[in-house]
Amino acid sequence: MIIEPKIRGFLCTTAHPIGCAAQVEQHIALVKKNGPIPGGPKKALILGSSTGYGLSTRIVAAFGCGAATLGLAYERPPEKGRTASPGWYQTKAFEAQATAAGLWAKSLNGDAFSADLKAQAIDILKREVGPVDLIVYSLASPRRTHPVTGVTYKSVLKPIEGSYTNKTMDFNNGVVTQITLDPATPEEVSDTIGVMGGEDWEMWTDALLQAGLVAPGCVNMAYSYIGPNVTQPVYRSGTIGTAKNHLENAAHALDAKLKALGGRAFISVNKALVTQASSAIPFMPLYISVLYKVMKAKGIHEDCIQQMDRLFRTKLYTAAAQFGKHAEVDAEKRVRMDDWELRADVQAAVEALWETVKTENAATDSDLLGYRGDFHRLYGFGVPGVDYSADVPESMI
Ligand code: NAD
Repeated sequence: MIIEPKIRGFLCTTAHPIGCAAQVEQHIALVKKNGPIPGGPKKALILGSSTGYGLSTRIVAAFGCGAATLGLAYERPPEKGRTASPGWYQTKAFEAQATAAGLWAKSLNGDAFSADLKAQAIDILKREVGPVDLIVYSLASPRRTHPVTGVTYKSVLKPIEGSYTNKTMDFNNGVVTQITLDPATPEEVSDTIGVMGGEDWEMWTDALLQAGLVAPGCVNMAYSYIGPNVTQPVYRSGTIGTAKNHLENAAHALDAKLKALGGRAFISVNKALVTQASSAIPFMPLYISVLYKVMKAKGIHEDCIQQMDRLFRTKLYTAAAQFGKHAEVDAEKRVRMDDWELRADVQAAVEALWETVKTENAATDSDLLGYRGDFHRLYGFGVPGVDYSADVPESMI
């Protein structure tokens, strides 16, 4: 079967198993090339481990630090005549590479918000791994069913203070238009907090603590985003940002709980990058395209694997940071991996381009092609070294 991308808006309904696997291998090679990370974690639980920041974190923990990893994700398996979602193939590829390298690696595919998956993960950790010294919370989901009440919340990406109008780009054709987003209702705000806020991270940490599965000195980390002025009404001051505030507050509560074990909970604020989650956020594709243009020109662009590699090597597991115990944080106790994105010179250049970018110059005033290439690679297409004209055997799908 020849597999081609079938793109519908900000989604691609096909994924290339060989391309997905090749990309995982290339990311592993990058981490290995940078050498071992002394003092890194040895046993890690990664929530949201199949794509984006979670997959990259898992790769760095395993191949940079030699950690055993239990990964959780919610991916669609293949069906007759239909490929799986990319995270399915990436998880298989990661496990195969880790096992070949002599690293313990298992993955659970299901709803991490549920009590059942928490029980399954705890059971595996108890039987096969023992207490973890790294917990990473990297879930990005449009909905969550509460494990106690059974209520399902849906997250929305809307402003709160009033409607917001700005430029947006269809990255498939480069057409730049104006869109207006209406403000969220109070219920939509609280539902988004229910999905992307900190309650589930707290539930996971409590369950692990109760089971005696948190090792002394454990690092417990969730990911957040702040971003520039241009996305502020819809991101940081919008529904999703309000949920991120809730997540960040949870870090303080969890940090206090882990103190007795000499552990820490904190947030890493990461850079804006093309992932399945970010491509669904209004205004983000145009902002990221302009940001890529500027950061690439300045030689400071990083992708997910490079961000996570730098996080581990220069912020978390260094002698100065006492190997995870005292990472350098801002006033809100957040590690800032968006330090280069939010640099004054970067944002000034982004703002200047934002003023001029339009359909006619989208390919030059933004990194439209770079964005599109990254989007295709999320699904395993356009990965260097892969022959896309070759038949993919049924057994690989
Ligand atoms: P992503 O879409 O690439 O990954 C999401 C992961 O969550 C996948 O592994 C998916 O399988 C898993 N998942 C979703 N629902 C699940 C469920 N119910 N049960 C189990 N697993 C589930 O997203 P991403 O962009 O890597 O985002 C990860 C985190 O990083 C989020 O908190 C996001 O806000 C944050 N972040 C992202 C960016 C960015 O620009 N992409 C920037 C800063 C911070």
